[in-house]
Amino acid sequence: MAVTKTVPPERVNEAIDSGICLLGENRVQEFLEKYDSYRKEGVDIHFIGHLQTNKVRQIIDKVSLIHSVDSLRLAQEIEKQAAARGLHMDVLVEVNIGGEESKSGVSPEELEPLLLEIAKFPHISVKGLMTIPPVCENAAEIAHYFAKMQQLFIDMKQKNMDNMNMSILSMGMSKDYKIAIQHGSTLIRIGTAMFGDRK
Ligand SMILES: *Cc1c(COP(=O)(O)O)cnc(C)c1O
Repeated sequence: MAVTKTVPPERVNEAIDSGICLLGENRVQEFLEKYDSYRKEGVDIHFIGHLQTNKVRQIIDKVSLIHSVDSLRLAQEIEKQAAARGLHMDVLVEVNIGGEESKSGVSPEELEPLLLEIAKFPHISVKGLMTIPPVCENAAEIAHYFAKMQQLFIDMKQKNMDNMNMSILSMGMSKDYKIAIQHGSTLIRIGTAMFGDRK
């Protein structure tokens, strides 16, 4: 995935022309401002940022996957908005694997109960998990978090919960994507390594 925050639409379109077919957006306001300028044919857009419940309706018909479901309240709002539009929304549940207070995402202990609740919603399908690990000093430390996440993903998959197809593990960014892939990531989210440093 090409993560497009702060990247002007002309450059995003350049990336699309070069073969990029998946964009990741993480700010609702910025996304809405740029959305009409994107050449969207053959391109999927995912929402990857923290999502406030009152913003769900603004993006729900513009993205094919929301990576950042981290509460029942948010899932309820997605269900409501999807039902109102007669559409179906795929989501990932975000896990706060480092247990950081400043980060969104559920704790590993909260994950299964939340998944069981979301599984009841007819207009939502959980497709997997997403994480943003803590800032780490070295590769071994980051590998530790990714390994924990991989295990959690495998555990949840093996539970074979109803209405759930755990196939996506979204983890890894510009600085750590190789380590993430070594630990089972199926979707890496790349910003700076593709577009350069953000202002
Ligand atoms: C910005 C961002 C990325 C990309 O980070 P880079 O280090 O620039 O590759 C990935 N995921 C999320 C959720 C982001 O907000």
